Amino acid sequence: MSIARALAVVGIAAGLAACSSTPTSRQLGQDAIAAMGGAERVQNVSTLTMKGGVGTRYRHGQTVKVGDAEPVGTLKNVVETVDRVNNRAALDYELQIGPFGQHRRETLTAFNGRPVGLEDVAGRPLAVMSPSGLFSWGTQNHPEFLLKRNVVTVALAAATGATEEPPQDKTFEGRMLKSAAAKLPSGEQITVYFDPDSQLIAGFDALDTESMLGDAPSQYVFADYKDVGGLKLPHKITIRKLGQPYSEVQYASAAVNDAAAEGTFAIPASANDEVMKAIAAGEYSPVTITKIADGVYFARAYSHNSMVVEFPSWLAVVEAAYTDAQSATLARVLNDQFPGKPIRYAAVTHHHYDHTGGVRGLAAVGATILAEKGHEPAMRMIVETPHTNPPDPLENARKAGQAGALEIFEGKKVLSDGTQTLELYAVTGNPHVEPKVLAYVPSARALFQSDIWFPGLGAPAGPDAVHLLQAIEALKLPVATHVGGHGGVGPHAELVKAVAAVKK
Ligand SMILES: [Zn+2]
Repeated sequence: MSIARALAVVGIAAGLAACSSTPTSRQLGQDAIAAMGGAERVQNVSTLTMKGGVGTRYRHGQTVKVGDAEPVGTLKNVVETVDRVNNRAALDYELQIGPFGQHRRETLTAFNGRPVGLEDVAGRPLAVMSPSGLFSWGTQNHPEFLLKRNVVTVALAAATGATEEPPQDKTFEGRMLKSAAAKLPSGEQITVYFDPDSQLIAGFDALDTESMLGDAPSQYVFADYKDVGGLKLPHKITIRKLGQPYSEVQYASAAVNDAAAEGTFAIPASANDEVMKAIAAGEYSPVTITKIADGVYFARAYSHNSMVVEFPSWLAVVEAAYTDAQSATLARVLNDQFPGKPIRYAAVTHHHYDHTGGVRGLAAVGATILAEKGHEPAMRMIVETPHTNPPDPLENARKAGQAGALEIFEGKKVLSDGTQTLELYAVTGNPHVEPKVLAYVPSARALFQSDIWFPGLGAPAGPDAVHLLQAIEALKLPVATHVGGHGGVGPHAELVKAVAAVKK
C-alpha cells in the first residue's frame, strides 16, 4: 500500500469512529464502505474484472424508421475490466441485434502513460485510435464510463467527498431511500442512494454526456451484491439514460487485482506504428484517401467509409461515420490534400448511430449537415443536444460561432458548382432503413450507399441489395461505380451479377 493510500484509510477509519445517531451524508458513505468489506479492502482495488455477463443494450440506434421502438440488443460473455491505478478500461462482449452479431472488444489503454484506444472486432484487423475514436455497443458507448462510474470509485467518493449535510429522502427503484451528494474524482457531482437494510450503495444519478444522446441524466442501479474475496460487489448493473432503459447486465463472477487483467491492456508490438501516429495526432482514427475519378475520392476507414466530392472551391463529404475522431482525422487528411478547400457539406445517408457518430465532428469543422426529412428528428437530437460533460468539439465550435448548421431536404437535393454535381436521393422501401439516401456523382457515374451493398468484395446480394438495384433503375441513374460505406469500390456489373444470382 502507498503512503497516500494508508493515510486515506486512516481518514476513513477516523470517520467511522465518529459515527453518531443521525448520520451525515459522509457517514452513509462510510457505512457503505464498511458494508462492502472495509476501507482498506475497497481502496486496495486496483483492477476490477466483471465476468460472464449476460444482458441487454437498448440504445444502439438501429431502428428501420426514426421513432420506431429500439430492437433489444442482447449481450453475452460480457467481460469488463477497469484499472483504477493506470486509468485503463476495457469492454469485451458479444452483441446480437436481430440478424446482426459481433464479438467486440474496445480497450482504453496506455502506451508510456499516453492514452490509446484499441478496437478489436472478430474477423477484422486490430484498429488503433485515440481514445476519442472508440465506439461501443456494450453496456456503455465508451469504456471510459467504466473508469468514472464503477462501484469502487462511487463508494470512495461517497465516503470521502460527501458533505456533513444531512442526507435527503428520495425515491429510488420504487423505495424511499437516503441519498447524498458526492463528488467523483472527475469533478462530477452525483447523487448516491443507500440501501437501509444492507447499508450498501443501491445506485446513483449522474449526468452522462453520451456521444449519440448528448447530455443525458442517467441512473445506475447496483444489485445482487456478492462476496469476492471479502469484498462485496454488485453483480447486476442496470443503466437508464433519459429515463429509458439503456443496458442491464447480470455478471456471473468478479475478480479483484487479477494478474490476468494486465493482458487485457497489452498492445501488440505490430501495432506500435499506429499507436505512435494516434498519440502524435491527438484525435486519430485510421483514414486513407484514394482517387475514384476526377474530383471523387474514397475515404477508407477501418470499418465505416465515406465518399469525398471535390468542387472548385470546397468539398462535400458523404457519410460522417462512426466517431468524431474519425471526422477529425478525415478533416485533417482532406486539409492536407486540398488546402484552402473547406468541407462545406456533410451528407447523411441514414440515421443509424454507427453511420452518424462523426456528424458532430464534421459540424465542428464548419460543415453544413445535410439530412433528409425522414431522418430529421434523429439528426436534430444528434446535432442540437448539448454535449457538455465534457464539452465535445461541436460544443466548443458552437461557442466560438464556428459550427455548421443542420439543413433538412426532402426527397432530393442537388449540390452543384462549376462542372461538379452531387445528387442526393431519398429512396423508400429498403428493408434496412426508411428512407435511405443514395449519393450520386454524375461526372464519375459513382454511387455511394452504406449498409445495403458491400461493393468490391464479390459479396452475395441480400434483399437490401436487390432493392438498391431496383431503386437505381427506377431513378434511371447510369451508375458505373459503387462506393461502399462498408466494403470498397466496385463496378456496377458486380451488383447486377449478384442480384441476378439471387433471382435464379
Ligand atoms: Zn445502417
